This record gives sequence, C-alpha cells and structure tokens, in this order.
Amino acid sequence: MCGIMGIVSKKEILPAVIDGLRALEYRGYDSVGVVWQSGEGLRVKRVVGRVDKLAGEMDPAATARSALGHTRWATHGAPTECNAHPHRDPSGRFAVVHNGIIDNYAELKQELLAQGATFSSETDTEVIAHLIARAYKGDLLAAVEEVLPRLVGVYALGVMCADEPELLIGARKGSPLTIGLGDGETMLASDVVPFLSHTRQACYLNDGEVAVLRPEGFEVRKEGKPLTPDIRTIEWSAEDAGREGYEHYMLKEIYEQPKALKTLIDARLSLPEKGLPRIHVPEEDIPDAALDTVKRIVLLAHGTAYHAAMIGRLLIERVARIPCYPEYASDFRYRNPIMEPGTLYVVITQSGETIDTLSALRLVKDTGHPTLALVNVPSSTMAREADYVFPLMAGPEIGVASTKAFTSMVAALYILALRFGIRRGTESEASLRRRAGDLLRVSSRMHEVLLKCDFLKDIALKYKDKEHFLFLGRGAGWPLALEGALKLKEISYIHAEGMNSSEIKHGPLALVDEEMPVLFITLKGERYDRLLSNLNEVKARHGRIIAIVSQDDEDIHQHADEVFRIHDDCGVMNSILCSAPLQLLAYHAAVARGCDVDKPKNLAKSVTVE
Ligand code: GLU
Repeated sequence: MCGIMGIVSKKEILPAVIDGLRALEYRGYDSVGVVWQSGEGLRVKRVVGRVDKLAGEMDPAATARSALGHTRWATHGAPTECNAHPHRDPSGRFAVVHNGIIDNYAELKQELLAQGATFSSETDTEVIAHLIARAYKGDLLAAVEEVLPRLVGVYALGVMCADEPELLIGARKGSPLTIGLGDGETMLASDVVPFLSHTRQACYLNDGEVAVLRPEGFEVRKEGKPLTPDIRTIEWSAEDAGREGYEHYMLKEIYEQPKALKTLIDARLSLPEKGLPRIHVPEEDIPDAALDTVKRIVLLAHGTAYHAAMIGRLLIERVARIPCYPEYASDFRYRNPIMEPGTLYVVITQSGETIDTLSALRLVKDTGHPTLALVNVPSSTMAREADYVFPLMAGPEIGVASTKAFTSMVAALYILALRFGIRRGTESEASLRRRAGDLLRVSSRMHEVLLKCDFLKDIALKYKDKEHFLFLGRGAGWPLALEGALKLKEISYIHAEGMNSSEIKHGPLALVDEEMPVLFITLKGERYDRLLSNLNEVKARHGRIIAIVSQDDEDIHQHADEVFRIHDDCGVMNSILCSAPLQLLAYHAAVARGCDVDKPKNLAKSVTVE
C-alpha cells in the first residue's frame, strides 16, 4: 500500500518531502525513508517506525532541491531498515521507491545474481534499482523505459539518479501516482493530500504512463511517446485534510458525518411541496435512459464498503424491486462470474484505488457491461475508469478505519434506490416522499446522536479489557453488526464477530457466558420481536448486553445491561444513525487500550496490493 512523495524544485525541499510523507502515513507505516540529492551524490536515511522518527533522526544540516520519500507497508521482507525504501543499486547512484508487488522479482533476482549482483534487502523492489543501473547509458528516462516492460505485477515508482539531479521519474501500473504542478517545483505522490499546501493543480497518471518531472514542469509519456497531460484542479483544500484540533482523524471524521451527509443529500435530493421527490443527477452520473435497461445490480466492494453494499442491497430491493447482489470484488473477479446482459455493476470504494475492486471494475468493463463508481476520492482511478460516477463528497478521509465514507455510501445507495424507484413507479408517491423525508432528516438526527455519544466512553471503559465481543442485528442491523465488529477489531484489537442474530442459535450461542459482551442493534421496526427473543436467549446465558434502541423503547431496561437510545425516525436510514455509536465505542475502546487509532497495526487505508 505504501506512500510515495517526491519533489524536484529550485528551492530547498527536504522538510517538505518529509511533511508530505506524514500526510501519506495512513497508507503504510512499517518503516519510512528518504533519498535526496546532496551535491555529492545520493544520500539516504531510513528508519523502522514512523515519519516523526525519521524527522528526528535527519541530519539538521541536510538540504536538497530534489528528494524522494516512502512510507512502507511491507509485502516482501520484514519491516526492517534494510527492507525500507528507497532501494539503491550497489553503486548507490540510482534510487527507487515502489508501491505494489513485482510478481516476477524472484526470476529477475536469479538473473541478476547469476550476473554477479549482490542484494541488500529481501524486497521485490530492489531488483528495479539493479535493472535501471544496468540499463543506464547517460539517460535515466531511457533506462526506466527500457526496464518497465520487464516488470510483471503492480507498481507506482519514483526513480532518481545521482547524475541527473534535476530529474525525477514516476511510473504507474496498477498503483496510484499523481503529479502536482507547483511554482518552480514539481512533485509526485500516491495521492493529492500532500500537495495541498503547495498546489491545487494535479495530473493523475494512468496505467502504463511515465512522468518526467523537472522543477519547471513535467511531461507524461506512454510507450515512449509524449502525451498531452490532463491537468485538473484538486477539489479539496489543505484545511479539509487537517485534524482541526481533534485528537485523531478518526474522531474528526466521525463528527464530520452530519456535514458530509448534508453535502451529499442536499446536492442530490429535494422534496417539493407536492409530487415526487426530485433527484438531481450530475453530468457524470448514469443517465435516466440507461437506468431503464437495468434488470439486475451487482455491488462490488470490500471491507466497510462491502457492509455498505449489504445495506444497499436491502435498499435497492426494497425500494426499486431490482435483484441486487453484493459481492467481494476479489471473489467475483477470480471465479469466472456469470455476467448476464442487463446487469449494472456498481463499485463502492472510498479511495477509488482498492486493487481488488479496481480489477473487478476492469474485468466488467472488458466484457462491455455498464459500470458505476460510488467513490469518495474525486479523480481517483476508479472515478476515472468507471463509465459513470456517483461522487460521495465526504471530503478527505485519512483515519484508516473508515467512518464518514461508510455513512455517505449508505446515503448514496439510498439515493440510487430512490432514483430507480421513482423512475419505475415501484412505490406510491406517498411512500417515496416519506423515504426522501427520512433521508433529508438524517443529517440533523446524526448530529443529535453525536451530541449524546459521550456515554459510549463509559461503556468502552467498562468493557475495554474483554477479549471478545459479539455484535448482532437483523435487516439493516446485520451489516451494521458486521461493521461494528470490524471497527472494534481493527482499531482496538479486541476480537469481535458480527452476525445476523438469527444465526446465534446455530453455533455462536455456545460462546456466550458472563464474560461475553454482546451488542444488539434493537431498533423497533427491524424485526424487533425476533431481536428481543435473541436478546433474551443471550441474557439467559448470562451474556452482558449492550443495546442500541429506539428513543421510546421503555421495556428494554428489563433485558439489557446498557442502553443507548436513538431518535430513530429516519426509517431504514436509522442504519446510518446506529453507525455512530458503533464507531465511537470502537474509538474509545482503542484509546483506552492505548492503541494508535489512526494507524492500526498491520493495516493501511487504501489496499492497493492483493
Ligand atoms: N513490495 C514492496 C515492499 O514490500 C512495496 C509494498 C507495498 O506497496 O505495499 O517493500
């Protein structure tokens, strides 16, 4: 997953490259390193740990006008200093940073070893530095272009050479890479966030493209020929990507949910005094006429986005009566799926770069079926490659555990469901108006929920030393249970399982005793009576029950140990409201256990390797 940041400039830029790495740390944080042009060749500093450690150990006298940095999420070789990027050839004149996996590295390494090469790391990346050094005949670009066709796999690369100090080369196949065009400086990075304090002008590289960066500008090439670069204005500002006084990005992003929901819903939906709700369809979204041919919808996603897809199925089937199938994108692409005519494939992704989802999107496109991307990062690869785009408009999400992107995905899927429902007349006007009203109300209800969420801190403190947790729900509560469990395990490292509460009698009930906290999503309306029976079954086995319940549920106290009440007048969108207490329970448990909330161990935000 790794983050890459490089600048070539007329000014001193070493601290700016290190700052840029900080903004990319969410992509990987096993180790970090930087290479710079020192005037006497390339100098490298690498450490195991975080960017702050690197910054603290840098030689204060070091300056440079050209540098490349990398924050790593190890795939090949342990997170040691030797395996940290940048990697150099044995002469030390060529340096490479890499995001991705070189599938044929073992073969290339054997070939180089047979020619007498010696290696200083266990990574797949190091072979690239060796190959470029061997291909170099006084022209770095030519050497890189000669080597790239030999690399099988996925990469975003940054390359520099001691002999050409005013030059950085970037190359992309599969992993994201973006060029930023500043004033007297040009930069490359895995995403645009590190550019925001320098420039709003960016060019997103496509697969197979090579970028040639110099202080005064850049060139983009493909198959050895220059292309006209597509320079776009970045929509986010530096403030959007800051922490704004919150202790963690995750907390800031949880509290940004009302605003993110309002931005999205107000842009797409309105409810006139009379008649059907109106859906506002931006230019990039699927046109009405194309909706009419859709007989089946497949939702492709992973992780939190997959849980949003599960709620999406329920919404689309309920409102539009179109059969809808959530799928793990990786499973879908590798099982030779049956792809029927009339199917709309919807990829759901925060980053727009998740490699499995991107590969599934490409598979679908190759077969000629229509694709729609529900995506948060504007101009990300999937936003560019899908036929149609539904931007989530949640703003930058930096915390590794996804929060506001999840609730915006659910809202976007409801808007999509309503759009189909309105077009197809599957529900009465009154029902569609009620649903639109629910959606238009959800942002302010979310605000109210967040105002009383302090209580979750007490619950988190009470249960923080438990080893296991169960999350149970039905209907929309089932994907929420999965999402609640995922949040807890990914940031607090408490083992948690989420499931449909109808499943507990089929096995998991055997786990329940007085040591097992069980969180129930028990809103009235979502199979309440059945949920209550499941809750009592757990209570009879002495499980500790935490229940998220409807505001007016007076009886629940007899059954549950802890109760969190929600003003649940948003119909099926109450699911969005339930996600806030789940997120905050995980957050407070993680803080209480001393975990690094924004950078959980072994994880990275944007999963760009398989
Ligand atoms: N394969 C490289 C390594 O292990 C880069 C990994 C990545 O991009 O996640 O160092």
